[in-house]
Amino acid sequence: MHAEIISIGSELTTGAKLDTNSQWLSLELAALGIPVWYHTTVADEQEANVRVLRAAVDRADLVLVTGGLGPTLDDLTREVLARLAGVELVLHEPSLEIIRGMFSRRGRPMPERNVVQAMFPAGATPLANPRGTAPGIFLEIARVGRTACRVFAMPGVPSEMKVMFHGEVAPRIALDQPCAPVIRHARINCFGLGESAFEELLGDVTARGRDPEVGITVHEATITLRIVAVAATAAECEQKIAATARVIHDRLGDYVFGVEDEQLQDVVVRRLAALGRSVSAAEDASSGLLSQSLAVAAGPGGGFRGGFVGPVAMLAQELTAGDAAAGGGEVAPALAAGCRNRLNADFGLAVSACLPAAPGDPAAEFPRVTIALACKDRVEMRELNLAGDPAILRSRVVKSALNLLRLELLRSSSGCDLPPDVPGLGDQEHEA
Ligand code: ATP
Repeated sequence: MHAEIISIGSELTTGAKLDTNSQWLSLELAALGIPVWYHTTVADEQEANVRVLRAAVDRADLVLVTGGLGPTLDDLTREVLARLAGVELVLHEPSLEIIRGMFSRRGRPMPERNVVQAMFPAGATPLANPRGTAPGIFLEIARVGRTACRVFAMPGVPSEMKVMFHGEVAPRIALDQPCAPVIRHARINCFGLGESAFEELLGDVTARGRDPEVGITVHEATITLRIVAVAATAAECEQKIAATARVIHDRLGDYVFGVEDEQLQDVVVRRLAALGRSVSAAEDASSGLLSQSLAVAAGPGGGFRGGFVGPVAMLAQELTAGDAAAGGGEVAPALAAGCRNRLNADFGLAVSACLPAAPGDPAAEFPRVTIALACKDRVEMRELNLAGDPAILRSRVVKSALNLLRLELLRSSSGCDLPPDVPGLGDQEHEA
């Protein structure tokens, strides 16, 4: 069995909104072992809707639709489904009561127009919407000489759609799929080398046809390895993923910093908290991105003491009483030590550079950027080679600074009994 997903809404086809529902639903269906062959996005136009739905019903056994269930005239999904099934729209009294109840709980009378949300193609099953007024629709559309196509129409609002999918749609799909293979995804995040260097270190891990498959994607210098495991049970998938994650960790070592949505700052902040340490920042080149990343990840009182952002001359004056020569990379160590002292932190992290004024500025194609980390007894400094896409320079610089601190924290906590940064990849498992 394969499925199709249709997203309805002129907001989507005009480009005003991005269709994220299809992406989310595809991942959910994959987890249920159902491949998706088509995504279609269509405007709020009745004829276009009918054509798109007819084609999908003809091609796939399962069709998921989002959007067009609202009470306004441009919400056409229920009419289009009734037309395709060749049936009338009929009022479902219990749904109308639920919708009326929602309005009365909000202290408002129900507008007459909302009655339409309780109208369903004859023979359809309403799907509960605990988050909004529009119930979903489950309808089987007969096909000549074949089993019926199962169509599930859900609201466009992502939060409503997700709750309905889990509560009403997935259980019905799973009933039809007792022996379907299970698919599980996992992501491992790495930093410190380019994509091709990582690929070289990984060797056959990323080979096509490997089980489980491992793909590489890059986002602003963070490399993500995506593992896709297919097996009869979720437990088998998890085993395959764990074994591959260990191979990856063996080959990449400390280049691996986290899993799933974790960013470098999340890992740094977690380790700082585990060690009871703190950090402060000084940056003349990264527009406050370093301080912002640490502040957001740490939250109030979470190990980030604060940061200084401004022109290098001002920072040098403020943090080193003018001792450090303003301009040039050498100032970074003094800024790191200065912000560490000023805010009484365990570490001071500094970024100092001459970035191009605008991305692509040919006058400064290869800006000189220095990062420095001040610890209790020494200051580490790195000069970064920043050839490459100027649009992501700030992000790369900040990640490099965070990574310098992450590696220092790893070194200084070796021997401490701390949980590993990458769950399931503790030292013992790693060596086994
Ligand atoms: P409601 O009655 O709750 O409005 P609906 O089914 O009519 O439900 P739409 O009016 O199509 O839903 O969409 C409501 C909002 O949901 C849109 O303004 C948009 O912000 C968001 N939305 C709709 N479809 C998608 C989609 N495919 N991906 C992401 N967001 C979407």
